[in-house]
Amino acid sequence: MEYAESVIDLVGNTPLVKLNRVTDGIAATVLVKVEYLNPGGSSKDRIATRIIDAAEREGKLKPGGTIVEPTSGNTGVGLALVAQQRGYRCVFVLPDKVGEDKRNVLTAYGAEIVVTPTAVAPEDPDSYYSVSDRLAREIPGAFKPNQYANQNGPLSHYETTGPEIWRDTDGRVTHFVAGVGTGGTISGTGRYLKEVSDGRVQIIGADPEGSVYSGGTGRPYLTEGVGEDFWPSAYDPSVVDQVIASSDAESFEMTRRLAREEGLLVGGSSGLAVSVALKAAADLPADAIVVVLLPDGGRGYLGKIFNDKWMRSYGFAPASEGATVRDVLA
Ligand code: PMP
Repeated sequence: MEYAESVIDLVGNTPLVKLNRVTDGIAATVLVKVEYLNPGGSSKDRIATRIIDAAEREGKLKPGGTIVEPTSGNTGVGLALVAQQRGYRCVFVLPDKVGEDKRNVLTAYGAEIVVTPTAVAPEDPDSYYSVSDRLAREIPGAFKPNQYANQNGPLSHYETTGPEIWRDTDGRVTHFVAGVGTGGTISGTGRYLKEVSDGRVQIIGADPEGSVYSGGTGRPYLTEGVGEDFWPSAYDPSVVDQVIASSDAESFEMTRRLAREEGLLVGGSSGLAVSVALKAAADLPADAIVVVLLPDGGRGYLGKIFNDKWMRSYGFAPASEGATVRDVLA
């Protein structure tokens, strides 16, 4: 018989898929690493297991304890999966820009959520950082993983994501592109790929226009899960060769094209990463192999990026609508 002992054993070992249409006019090979095939639906499943294992080992999380974390949703799902298996309570703090579908996923796994306003400074008592600090202080037996500073986040990518990419490309990968949120994915994967290739693999960060990584001030943007208004310690800028920005409009258009042209229903930060990868790949030769990490799936964004009314309400003109069936039959 072949089966997993538990759903946690299914985390990682996600496949690479070649992009064939959105890469029109590009000589390089562009491969995407499809992280929505993780059991919780995102790359964050990888960090959750390692963070909780380490907390138990270090005595920071004891039986009956509570996990408290500010998260845009995906980290929450990963943590909720592991917590459920091991009997911990989970409380997640989310900014209000996170879609309702994503919130409902967390409560479906049995977690509790607290929603905070997006348009306040990190040091404001109502910010999602402040609120989660207060909850972690006041709930007895609480453990705050703090994905922005926890080195087990980047380490999980150093130990799994990086080696998987190296193995699956037979060491031929030349460029790695990932969106930067906490910075854990790009720092851990990037460090591994730099080490194993003697510095040959180029590491490219994808950032929403306005965020600090690409020189912005943290001005609000709509792409979820990426960009910051501060510099988290999970981010190691020394492994990143270049950060390229993409506007919400470019990222969302690419997100929609990935579904329609490549059959990949993914989230907005995946559209961001591919949009940036194609900017970088435009000048690359045919023997370049660009690997782009797609952090999550598109189901959490059906009411937003994939909803024409929502897109128009933010001034994005969704392309390729065409005639309705009614127009055709009239
Ligand atoms: N995309 C999405 C949808 C995310 O939730 C995250 C995590 N915040 C990222 C990208 C960025 O990953 P990282 O935190 O490892 O930089």
